[in-house]
Amino acid sequence: MKEVLLLKYGEIVLKGLNRGYFNSVLEKRVRRALKPVDGEFYFDYAQSTLCISASDDADMDTAYEKVKKVFGVATVCRGIQCEKDMDDISAKIAENIDELLGDAKTFKCDAKRSDKKFPLKSPEICAICGGIVLENRPDMKVDVINPERVITIEIRDRAAFVHGNGEKGAGGVPVGSSGRAMLMLSGGIDSPVAGHMIARRGAAMDAVYFETPPYTGEAAAEKVRTLAEKLTEYCGEMYLHSVSLTEIQETLVSTCKERLFTLLLRRFMVRCASALAERYGAGCIVTGESLAQVASQTMQSLAVTDAVATVPVLRPCIGLDKEEIVVRAREIGTFETSILPYEDCCTVFTPKHPDTRPDMEEILAEEAKLDVAGLVERALATDHFVRLG
Ligand code: ATP
Ligand code: MG
Repeated sequence: MKEVLLLKYGEIVLKGLNRGYFNSVLEKRVRRALKPVDGEFYFDYAQSTLCISASDDADMDTAYEKVKKVFGVATVCRGIQCEKDMDDISAKIAENIDELLGDAKTFKCDAKRSDKKFPLKSPEICAICGGIVLENRPDMKVDVINPERVITIEIRDRAAFVHGNGEKGAGGVPVGSSGRAMLMLSGGIDSPVAGHMIARRGAAMDAVYFETPPYTGEAAAEKVRTLAEKLTEYCGEMYLHSVSLTEIQETLVSTCKERLFTLLLRRFMVRCASALAERYGAGCIVTGESLAQVASQTMQSLAVTDAVATVPVLRPCIGLDKEEIVVRAREIGTFETSILPYEDCCTVFTPKHPDTRPDMEEILAEEAKLDVAGLVERALATDHFVRLG
C-alpha cells in the first residue's frame, strides 16, 4: 500500500498575502524534520494541505512522528494513495477498513474534489464509498451530523487519497516566520517551556546560559546543553552561549546589600542578554518568569529588571501556575532533565530575605558603587558558544 502524509495548515491559511511566505517557511521546516528519516519524500501543495508522498523504502512511522512536531501544522493524517478511479478507491477502502474506522461506531464520508475534471461529483463519491464501508462493516452506522469518524476521499490532480480523522499537529506558526529570540536558559523547569512557547509562535532561537565557575560545575552546564538540544527538536538549529557571571556575583557579594543581590544580578543578566541579542540579531529576550512565583518575579521586581533591557523581554509563562508549567515540561520532554539536582548560579548566592518590592533609587545607588559597564564587558568577553540541532 502506498501511504502519504497529509498536513493541514493551521493559522497560516489566515495570513492573506503573506501566505506564500509562510508556506515556504513551513515547507522548509518539514523538509528539515524529515532529513534524518530513511527514504525520499516528495511535496505537493493544494487546498491548505501539504501532501507528502515517499519512496517505497521510506520509514513512514518515523516521518509521521517527526512532522507532528513541526509548528504551523494543525492536523496530520496518514492517507492511502489510490488510482483516480472508483474501483481502486473502493478496493483500498475495503482493504484498510479497520484502520480507517478505528473503534468508531458511527461514520460519514466526505469527498474533496480539487480535480474538477473527475467524472463523479462529491455526493456521488460519498455515496459509493459509504456503501463500501457498510458492505464491509455492517455494524457501522452513518451519522452525518456528529460522526465519530470521517473518512475523507480527496481527488487531486496527481492521485486520489483516502484517510481517517488524523491527529492534532503541533499548532502555532512555522519557526523562522516571526524573527529570532534570545532565550535565557537556566537549568530549571520554566525557561525551556518558555522557549518552546515562543518557538511555537514562530521565533527561531538562540539561548544563553549564565554560569558561575567554579561555584557551578560542568554537570550543570551539561544539563543546560541537554535541555537546549531537546529544544532544537522544536525550534531547529540554535547557538547556545555560555557567559560567566563569576566576577559580577563576587563583586555583588562583597559590595552590595544582600537583600538586593538577586535583583542586581538579574539586571546584569538582562544587560548581557540584551547585548547578545543585539550582537546576534535577536529581536527579543525570552525568560521563564511567572508573575509572583518568586521574589524576583513580583511586578515591581520585573519592572526593575526590564528597565535595563534594550530589546523587549517576552515572558510567555507569566500567567501559568507552576503545575501548568510542569505539565508542559513533561509534554515537551524537558522535565526529567530539569529536575536533575545541579546547582545554578542563582541558588549559589541566594539572599535569605530577598526584596520583593524593590526601590529603584536604592537599586541605582547600589549600582553606583560598581563599574557596571566594565563588569558587563568582561562578562561578555567570556561568551563561548556551541551550535546545536
Ligand atoms: P527556571 O525554572 O526557568 O530556572 P525559576 O523559577 O528558577 O526559572 P529564576 O531562577 O528566578 O526562576 O529565573 C527566572 C528566569 O531567568 C529563568 O526562567 C530564566 O529565563 C532566567 N535565568 C535564571 N537563571 C539563569 C541562568 N543561570 N542562565 C540563564 N538564564 C537564567
Ligand atoms: Mg532558576
